[in-house]
Amino acid sequence: APRQLHVGLIGAGIGRSLTPAMHMREGEHCGLSYRYDLIDLDARGLSVSDLPALVDEAEAQGFAGLNITHPCKQAAVALVDKLSPDAQALRSINTIVFDGQRRIGHNTDWWGFAESFRRGLAGVSLDHVVQLGAGGAGVAVAHAVAEMGAHSVEIFDLDPSRAQALVDQLQPAHATCRFSIGHDLAAALDAADGLVHATPTGMAAHPGLPLDAQLLSDRLWVAEIVYFPIETELVKRARQTGCRVLDGGGMAVFQAVKAFELFTGIRPAAERMMQHFNSL
Ligand code: NAD
Repeated sequence: APRQLHVGLIGAGIGRSLTPAMHMREGEHCGLSYRYDLIDLDARGLSVSDLPALVDEAEAQGFAGLNITHPCKQAAVALVDKLSPDAQALRSINTIVFDGQRRIGHNTDWWGFAESFRRGLAGVSLDHVVQLGAGGAGVAVAHAVAEMGAHSVEIFDLDPSRAQALVDQLQPAHATCRFSIGHDLAAALDAADGLVHATPTGMAAHPGLPLDAQLLSDRLWVAEIVYFPIETELVKRARQTGCRVLDGGGMAVFQAVKAFELFTGIRPAAERMMQHFNSL
């Protein structure tokens, strides 16, 4: 009989997530009986305060692990026995592995972004990077950019306290990268090699561009993380401008690639998962 594996995703408003389909299809290819449940706080009338009980329940039911998404990634940190070093630096987890009596927390979002970037923007300069957005995802991608070798990352957020919090959190973990808070976006982009976009702007619910289109130039690479839709206004305008462009799909796929490996111990076929994602 095939090995049985049961996992799930806890978050709010996750009804249209493509993650279950990616995991279950790849599980099938790997000869597993792989079940991936959506545990949607909104659909169940629950909130983040119910997270401890939901994690207990999944563990008691014999789940191999859980993915955790908005708005639970920070709260989940307190519910595990051990954190991977990267999760410790990020203070945010999107994956819990139930390992016997222990719960181990991981963050595969930053690795997902880095892997997507290495494949999609190979060879670009990371000397000076400008990033828009310092929320939960922003912390993960800024960490990824520094891990990939950036020398300076200038952060812009409509809420300056969030930009400051990101710098305070990540700077101690990165001796060779200087994080700073941006003040003049036009000047910053003039001196930059590339732009990372980590605000919700461009999602169906927040349409539009996160910056004045005139600020884009074909000297810049542009890395988007929004992926509903894949072709955001920013991706479209950056392509029209002649920039090298990375869309947000790769990060979504590669966070799942790494989580699959953590849950199953099997290295999945990343290309196959990417193709499946693109067909959904
Ligand atoms: P968040 O709400 O925690 O943070 C967003 C931040 O952007 C906030 O600090 C806000 O003040 C700031 N902001 C909003 N508009 C801005 C603008 N025009 N200029 C500068 N700053 C602005 O959200 P999050 O959880 O960090 O997610 C951000 C986006 O990333 C979402 O659209 C989410 O879907 C996407 N995301 C994608 C992946 C992926 O795998 N591709 C993973 C995680 C998140």
